[in-house]
Amino acid sequence: MKTQKTIVVGAGINGVVAAIELRERGHEVILIDPGPLPHPLAASTDISKAVRAAYGADEDYTKLAERSINLWRQWNVEFGIELYHEIGFLFMRQRPMQRGDFEYESFKLLEQRGHRIERISSKLLRERYPTWNAKHYRDGFLDLEAGYAESGRVVATLIQRAKSLGVELRQTAKFRDLDETGGRVKGILLENGEKIAAGTVVMAVGAWTPYALPFTRNFLRASGQAIFRLPAITVFHSIATAW
Ligand SMILES: Cc1cc2nc3c(=O)[nH]c(=O)nc-3n(C[C@H](O)[C@H](O)[C@H](O)COP(=O)(O)OP(=O)(O)OC[C@H]3O[C@@H](n4cnc5c(N)ncnc54)[C@H](O)[C@@H]3O)c2cc1C
Repeated sequence: MKTQKTIVVGAGINGVVAAIELRERGHEVILIDPGPLPHPLAASTDISKAVRAAYGADEDYTKLAERSINLWRQWNVEFGIELYHEIGFLFMRQRPMQRGDFEYESFKLLEQRGHRIERISSKLLRERYPTWNAKHYRDGFLDLEAGYAESGRVVATLIQRAKSLGVELRQTAKFRDLDETGGRVKGILLENGEKIAAGTVVMAVGAWTPYALPFTRNFLRASGQAIFRLPAITVFHSIATAW
């Protein structure tokens, strides 16, 4: 296998996982981020992220999520800490689930693929989850294999893993531009003027992408919505980074 020096820009979940994977395949890897890590403004640095295989009728995405859930379970064992909490995910609708609804299609696909799921009527909702208004939420399902990952803690754990595998971590380094002398990418230029040469550059700067690579502004727009928490449930979210 031909190995080469690779720079991964951005040490959120995508960057750190890419760095580990490339290192395990024998490449020399430099991971750069302005830090501190996990970066407080990174999308990955949060107390929790939902993990689930329910993605409507999208079978490809569901299969990817199934693979990811198995890997989360493996990481729990491997790291000896519960990074993934398999506590279930409740989806409820204000009207009965029907063909074409996200919940209905998710339920049908998960059922077909043998997941542990349970249909929840308003009666069951009232009995089990009294904080929900059973008059409004009439139908839905409980996905028992879903849960949440302690996302900030996951990134911190993986950064240690990356270092122990020999990834060179530069956590006060800020990417300024690609070095494209001669018409091809030869490395990167940092904010402090330093040049780092590499055969491959992986950009994993998340919502910063349109700023780091201005040409992507033509087709990428970063947006985000806040999460808020109530004592018994988490109400959240949606993020779109591309269209
Ligand atoms: C409110 C919200 C809720 C979400 N909920 C979920 C959820 O429940 N489940 C789920 O699966 N996903 C969820 N997501 C999506 C998920 O968080 C993101 O897809 C994921 O964290 C993106 O990771 P990333 O590594 O691409 O980006 P980030 O985590 O943002 O990391 C980017 C990194 O790039 C670094 N960087 C930026 N500029 C530079 C530069 N110039 N030089 C070097 N480094 C730089 C930053 O410091 C940062 O560390 C949610 C996102 C948001 C915003």
